Amino acid sequence: MNARILIVEDETGLATTLKDRLRKQGYAVGVAQDGNSGMDMAMREPFDLLILDLMLPGQNGLAICQKLRQLGSNTPILMLTARRQTMDKVIGLRTGADDYLTKPFKMVELLARVDALLRRAGPGKSTGPVRYQCGDLQIDIRSTEVTREGRPVALAAKEFQLLRYFVEHRGATLSRDELLREVWGYGGQPSTRTVDVHVAWLRQKIEPDPKNPQLILTVVGLGYKFAGEPKG
Ligand code: CA
Repeated sequence: MNARILIVEDETGLATTLKDRLRKQGYAVGVAQDGNSGMDMAMREPFDLLILDLMLPGQNGLAICQKLRQLGSNTPILMLTARRQTMDKVIGLRTGADDYLTKPFKMVELLARVDALLRRAGPGKSTGPVRYQCGDLQIDIRSTEVTREGRPVALAAKEFQLLRYFVEHRGATLSRDELLREVWGYGGQPSTRTVDVHVAWLRQKIEPDPKNPQLILTVVGLGYKFAGEPKG
């Protein structure tokens, strides 16, 4: 399978040039043009390599890099910096970036670094975030283990998938239709009541006080929102 590369770069021209060049090399390429959507994409889709600009609108490259590492991602990261930004700072902060390039750079140089990083990581070795910590709740995506205050929480498969979807889209208001489509995979056939029932079960298991939910909030008239703040 072709390696998947995510480019997070706000300079449209450069982002397009990189995308075209990398696609020509046979990579599957995704592009985000600001820090927040870059972080979202990195959390949601599996990538084998990230090319991350340092200065971005929304959260910057450093913040993204640190968060992904805290979440257990070992995807190689190639950081791009403008010439005036000293890379000492980036490295000094121990961001977890694997390599960096100073702009402007030659495309062959970038391709060489990409190639080296992918080879070093090995095929299929990189993983997206695998652990989420929300308050007392810890969710391990890979082992599908959930603990609350260190004690295991037994979830049915659907409950886990629903919780995972919530956590991976925390802060977003999710409609019942979206949850049904994404978690159950059918287009509105069984009623959206299915979602409500599973949310209620999930609340029983993960909320300290299920009657007064702090994690899975009801957004009246719209759906639900996962409010758990991630902790590193
Ligand atoms: Ca930039």
